[in-house]
Amino acid sequence: MSDTPPHDLLRSGAFDAQHPPQRELIDDCVHCGFCLPSCPTYDLWGEEMDSPRGRIYLMKEGLEGEPMTDTMVGHMDACLGCMACVSACPSGVRYGTLINETRAQIERNHTRSRWEKLLRTAIFTVFPYPRRLRAMRGPLALYQRLRLGALLRRTGITAALPPHLRTMESLAPPINRAPRLGHRVPARGARRATVGMITGCVQSAFFPDVNAATARVLAAEGCDVVIPPAQGCCGALSEHSGREEEAVAFARTLLDTFDESRVDHIVINSAGCGSTLKEYPQLLRDDPHYAAKAERFAAKVRDIAELLTELGPTATRHPLPAAIAYHDACHLSHGQGIRSQPRDLLRGIPGLELREINRGELCCGSAGIYNLLQPEAAQELGDRKAAHVQDTRADLLVTANPGCSMQIRAALERRGEALPMAHTVQVLDASIRGEAVDTLLHT
Ligand code: SF4
Ligand code: SF4
Repeated sequence: MSDTPPHDLLRSGAFDAQHPPQRELIDDCVHCGFCLPSCPTYDLWGEEMDSPRGRIYLMKEGLEGEPMTDTMVGHMDACLGCMACVSACPSGVRYGTLINETRAQIERNHTRSRWEKLLRTAIFTVFPYPRRLRAMRGPLALYQRLRLGALLRRTGITAALPPHLRTMESLAPPINRAPRLGHRVPARGARRATVGMITGCVQSAFFPDVNAATARVLAAEGCDVVIPPAQGCCGALSEHSGREEEAVAFARTLLDTFDESRVDHIVINSAGCGSTLKEYPQLLRDDPHYAAKAERFAAKVRDIAELLTELGPTATRHPLPAAIAYHDACHLSHGQGIRSQPRDLLRGIPGLELREINRGELCCGSAGIYNLLQPEAAQELGDRKAAHVQDTRADLLVTANPGCSMQIRAALERRGEALPMAHTVQVLDASIRGEAVDTLLHT
């Protein structure tokens, strides 16, 4: 990414001519303020410019000639992109599109500090590359086996680290043996559908059990599961950070990897990725070679809970006597409107008790790489979420996004607590396989 703004594209205000935040979308906001109570950053700081309404106002000012200042960028950077405001807005304001367009403008036209550039470069050199993430498994497993984290904390070294590095250290999930997935898992019994499965970056590197459970549950429900090898990133992290060109390049490669004509559905078990996959038509709207392909692909994309609900259960569910707290991942609930499906799937398991988390609409602070870029705000939100999770007194926390699992686990650990965690599909898998509930409660 160039340090120099493309002056030939600059307008008089904050934005260049390449997809600035759209005037008509900005004008949909009637300034009612209904979104304010559900905005985590407004909840944290009570500042109008850190609310959805305030950020939309800043975008309007930028369109009307105000320059792109550090202050404006700061308010946009502080947004989690959690889309709680979209769920709350009675006027249907498409804030997600507005913030994505604004962030792409910022990355093109704003010069970040050297430290910010370094941090972002480091993150984007590793995170959207599953192979590079998988290469970290060995060293991380050793780090955990030798309990080096506890040693660094005892000696005060962790506390002396900059907040961004301290957060990275605390987020690493437990590394267990990775199951082999294969490239095709046949349906059990009569075939009801053929499903292409996206394995994700963080999910495949650090939560391979979730992918294995996804394939098993789909097969048990009558799906042939096709898992193309050597899948790349879907581009979600890049898109949500304004790195538009990079996101487009990842999207094109993934579209080429999946021969979508041969599958009925494309399934994803990570909320943030699913949200972006469904937005491919918007992301590739200017690409004459990929726009139509992106439309066809996006029409087939389903979150795993969405697809299992559409198919309806056929595999027998065995009892799992446990109290479960279900955490809504923002990009599943607010981003895709998927709230009832995972709850219905869980309630379909005999003996399982579902408990709601107070203020469940508020983000846990993970938000892609937000917790690495804005560690203080993310920690505060994580601590609040952990307190609400603890209040449920559940035996197990269930959520559908790897980032949320890592964020809430780290927040609970700061409180000296530990709670087993699982993805919705792991709970279903345990029930379908007739496993003892203890297998989930010791993860
Ligand atoms: S996306 Fe989330 S943090 Fe950003 S303005 Fe909307 S509610 Fe607030
Ligand atoms: S974004 Fe929606 S809810 Fe928020 S102030 Fe504007 S119209 Fe009201």
